[in-house]
Amino acid sequence: MAAVVRRALVMLLGLLAAASCSGDGDAPEHGARVAPSSTPTTAPTTTTIAPTTTTTTAPPRFDATIVPVDEAVRARMTSSWRPGCPVPLEQLRLLTLDHWGYDGLEHAGELVVHQDHADAMVRVFGSLWDTRFPIERMQLVDAYGADDAASTRDNNTAAFNCRDVVGRPGAWSEHAFGRAIDVNPLVNPYVLDPNVGDPALAPYLDRSLATPGMVHAGDAAVQAFAAEGWAWGGEWSAPDYQHFSATGR
Ligand SMILES: [Zn+2]
Repeated sequence: MAAVVRRALVMLLGLLAAASCSGDGDAPEHGARVAPSSTPTTAPTTTTIAPTTTTTTAPPRFDATIVPVDEAVRARMTSSWRPGCPVPLEQLRLLTLDHWGYDGLEHAGELVVHQDHADAMVRVFGSLWDTRFPIERMQLVDAYGADDAASTRDNNTAAFNCRDVVGRPGAWSEHAFGRAIDVNPLVNPYVLDPNVGDPALAPYLDRSLATPGMVHAGDAAVQAFAAEGWAWGGEWSAPDYQHFSATGR
């Protein structure tokens, strides 16, 4: 009997409390709330920064251009292209592509690829830009006299080069067709490169390193190229970690 009474009292008290609380929301006469209108406002004019004296820097944006190989570009490609190459100059395109450097800054690199792959490479580098995948430098391989080994030692990212497969004289490389690219080649060696044992290249055979610009399975670079159907040489039985190509060769 006593328990029933106690329970009824508890319920009654609960109802009273609920009524009191519900009244709180819209009853100004309770006076417990701070009236916002009575609060002194801080003068906004004292905190205004004069916008006219501030130079607003636009956030870095990815830019890219695609141009045919005109006379001026042709004059720069005297090492990488010659008559007898499998692709005529008319089918090649010079791309200017923004990329993040090893210094964390924006750079405009240059790349030559076949016209059929120009748009795809712009999309790939747009993706590399978005994911901040760093490219140390990207200039025409002609800057090294089309010497692939020299370009590799300089960690220069390049695509078109009318040359043979490394270690296979007489066999056109996919680079000779403008449908392959070598990304940060110093830190992404080709295991069959005759120079791979040199002290400059050898450390990067350790693929567990987290060196900037190193390509790893499934990373942003592999994904960016895969989105365009380009395969990664890092998955070959004799891996070429720097190499991506449209044909998978
Ligand atoms: Zn390659």
